[in-house]
Amino acid sequence: MSEPADPVHVLQRLLRLPTVAGDGADPAPFVELADVLREAFPLTHAAGEVIDVPPHGVLIRVPADSDSPDAGADPVVLMAHMDVVPVGDESRWTHPPLGGHVVDGVIWGRGTLDDKGQLVAVIAAVESLLADGRSPARDVWLSFGSDEEVMGTGALAAVEVLQERGIHPWFVLDEGGAVAADAFPGITRPLGVVGVSEKGVLSLRLTAAGRGGHASRPAKGGPAARIAAAITRLERHPFPAHLSPATLEMFRRLAPHLPRPLRPVVERADRAPSLLARLLVAAGPEPAALARTTVAVTTLTGSPAINVSPTSVEAGLNLRVAVGETTTAATERVRHVVGRHVEVHVDDAHEPSPTSPIEDPAFALLEQTVAAVFPEAVAVPYVMYAATDSRHFTAICERVYRFAPFRMSSEQREAIHSYDERLGVSDFRDGIRWYRTLLDSLGGQGTQAGR
Ligand SMILES: [Zn+2]
Repeated sequence: MSEPADPVHVLQRLLRLPTVAGDGADPAPFVELADVLREAFPLTHAAGEVIDVPPHGVLIRVPADSDSPDAGADPVVLMAHMDVVPVGDESRWTHPPLGGHVVDGVIWGRGTLDDKGQLVAVIAAVESLLADGRSPARDVWLSFGSDEEVMGTGALAAVEVLQERGIHPWFVLDEGGAVAADAFPGITRPLGVVGVSEKGVLSLRLTAAGRGGHASRPAKGGPAARIAAAITRLERHPFPAHLSPATLEMFRRLAPHLPRPLRPVVERADRAPSLLARLLVAAGPEPAALARTTVAVTTLTGSPAINVSPTSVEAGLNLRVAVGETTTAATERVRHVVGRHVEVHVDDAHEPSPTSPIEDPAFALLEQTVAAVFPEAVAVPYVMYAATDSRHFTAICERVYRFAPFRMSSEQREAIHSYDERLGVSDFRDGIRWYRTLLDSLGGQGTQAGR
């Protein structure tokens, strides 16, 4: 047998493939990515089943050790995605985004963090387990999607395959959180943030119509003025602040690590959640997003010519709907706030996802694995603002968690979907060690608990 592939080299090869998803996407980089994985991780591919999932994704079943008492127990699904967002303005990158270069112990390129690093880490960990002549204590399914960034249907197709087989996963783990440095003002220790839910996403369109005509004879209260007034009213009447149980639990766990002036407020958050919610709103846009449904005005369109008054003006709104609220109620509230001179259309609506349990053996296992590999980190649950493929898995599993076991600075987190995306080589190797530690501990945790 040949030498096992170095996961760093495998990741470098994947980073050179422009796997951008979407209508009319070139399939060649995806086909090559699958070839690289097959060549680099032969044991994993030979262990069980490899099922193609459209458009270019894959499900790989790694069967349990038949001697394990948990061999027939609910399996674990470990997810990642192959596709990336486009590299954007290449001139802003310090190192070429599709170069796959390692410079001074750092791997550079589009997809290092989102999400090829995670993909290679999880499959490399499985390969190392099998190379040691071992198998997991229960079945493990690897689910690698190929259209996450375009909110495609690949993850739905993967869920369908598992559903047809009557599979009810014990838990699902996908991208989302990280071992985040400087995640919270005043807390010096990194946080192992594990996503337990996702805010909903709601796209609305405000329109106002009018007669239009020549710009030399403007009338008062035209469509542009009505849209402007509606936007101003939305800013003046933000959604009320309140904290979901998951966010409260996050703060309960953070409290002992907070600096003195903040600690008492957070420690009492269970009894006075509205005070903490108001503090978060006052603390800036990022903490505010933890505490309420947010509204962003995105697209604005009006007259096509500078000397023509518009007959119709439109404003696009992108809302992130807080856990515990619904997209219908949020739409009604927007209608109420903007008033009857503006029409509100719903373009797209995704409800917030259900919240996965925190006081639970599966969450505890993730927490213990974080403590084993990243002893400096404090593990906390959180509600994600962004959407991941894993939300589709809530249809077949109550325990859907979102975490990538990589140390990330705040600059690294900002580089996701932006420029200079990069991952430290030793941080990448620790991520593989995290998955291996997880795979080594899949037996004996209250197998059927909470079904
Ligand atoms: Zn991603």
